[in-house]
Amino acid sequence: MDFEPIPGLAEARKKYDDFFREEMKKAPPGWEGGPEDLATHEGHAFQRYVARELGKRGWVCLAWPKKYGGLEKSHFEQLAFNEARAYWKAPGVDQFGAGMIGPTLLAVGSEEQKERFLPPIARGEIWWAQLWSEPNAGSDLAAAQTFAQREGDDYIVNGQKCWTSGAHHADWGFAVVRTSREQTRSRALSYLLIDLRSQGITINPLATMSSHRTQEAYFNEIFLDNVRVPVVNRVGEENDGWRMIRATMNFERSGLSAYGAMRRELLELIEFCRETKWQGEPLLNKPLVRDRLAQLAIDIEAGMASARHVLWGQYKLFLGEESPRDQATRSSSLKYYRSELSQRFAYTGCQIFGLYSQLKRESRWAPLYGKFEKEYQSCLGNNIASGTTEIQKNIIAWEGLGLPRI
Ligand SMILES: Cc1cc2nc3c(=O)[nH]c(=O)nc-3n(C[C@H](O)[C@H](O)[C@H](O)COP(=O)(O)OP(=O)(O)OC[C@H]3O[C@@H](n4cnc5c(N)ncnc54)[C@H](O)[C@@H]3O)c2cc1C
Repeated sequence: MDFEPIPGLAEARKKYDDFFREEMKKAPPGWEGGPEDLATHEGHAFQRYVARELGKRGWVCLAWPKKYGGLEKSHFEQLAFNEARAYWKAPGVDQFGAGMIGPTLLAVGSEEQKERFLPPIARGEIWWAQLWSEPNAGSDLAAAQTFAQREGDDYIVNGQKCWTSGAHHADWGFAVVRTSREQTRSRALSYLLIDLRSQGITINPLATMSSHRTQEAYFNEIFLDNVRVPVVNRVGEENDGWRMIRATMNFERSGLSAYGAMRRELLELIEFCRETKWQGEPLLNKPLVRDRLAQLAIDIEAGMASARHVLWGQYKLFLGEESPRDQATRSSSLKYYRSELSQRFAYTGCQIFGLYSQLKRESRWAPLYGKFEKEYQSCLGNNIASGTTEIQKNIIAWEGLGLPRI
């Protein structure tokens, strides 16, 4: 597959590259673009600034219909944009808004919901959070207990959500809630859009081992206490939420742009090894270091090719030439590969830095702003977020290989 001959694509890629090169000069010091950067007020303010700049140009949702704020560009141009943004570690595109609820509404939302929610996402104005997981419902999302009781034209919602990334800065949330006491499990779930400024919502930070201070906490727990949500904010029919959830999940797992970021990080690691001497010689001359760096380059290129294959599959799915089963298998395989590779990358970085890899970004001796100290601790989460590795393997076994469900 060769994307370059697509007319105008090389020029578009250069345009995005030039834009991000300039804008990223305004990033807060030590910016890595990870959750800890985005969690702080300064980081989030920069994120909103870049989003508005992208929104003015119509670049947040390039492939969306013009009617909803997009530019109707091809998915390949969208990929070129994603890769450029990832390479420059640039914020500005809400993975939950533009990446999940937006495409879900485009596919299954009412016309009123599309007109109300899609343009502000495309303008980079409102930010979303994913209110799915609960203390006793993660992989088994059908066990969610947050209950929405119908009362006239509203639902009254009560319950608790957890691990909600970025919710402390978000404006809206898309939530999985239970709407029937008679039906069981997934047959009783509905999908609600909730204004996070509503009365009765409490958002608390959840610190993890990689967010050392609560102001760096990207995770939150959310308590919903008699929160009033209009019925018009329900996506799809009552008790038919599972279909919407599955639609969102496939968008969530495609994650095509991560390899652009890894390419950049590999170049930074190579530069570090060029400049740093050990026993009188640059690290880059050490056979073991060269071997590890070359292996990472191979893995990243393989991931990039697979990501493009997934994109091609999404395009064919859109044309009706590919089955959703094949697409689900590819997305799950790629999600698994990406999370494993992010760990190999972090461990390789730590091995090369040696004991210096344990220094936090605040230390002037920390190589690359303490990048691998953070990565080492946060990369394990990649195997859990967006569905754990075991769940991805179950999907591949059921959907791809036709093995029995257990
Ligand atoms: C970085 C990160 C960001 C996140 N962001 C969000 C967010 O924004 N919004 C949100 O709602 N949630 C979020 N989550 C939560 C995430 O979706 C859940 O952690 C995940 O679905 C797993 O659920 P759990 O933690 O309850 O683990 P469990 O489901 O309890 O799983 C525990 C272990 O059992 C295994 N297991 C469970 N069921 C099966 C099975 N059927 N077959 C084989 N093995 C199984 C799992 O693989 C895992 O190893 C985030 C998590 C992380 C790490």
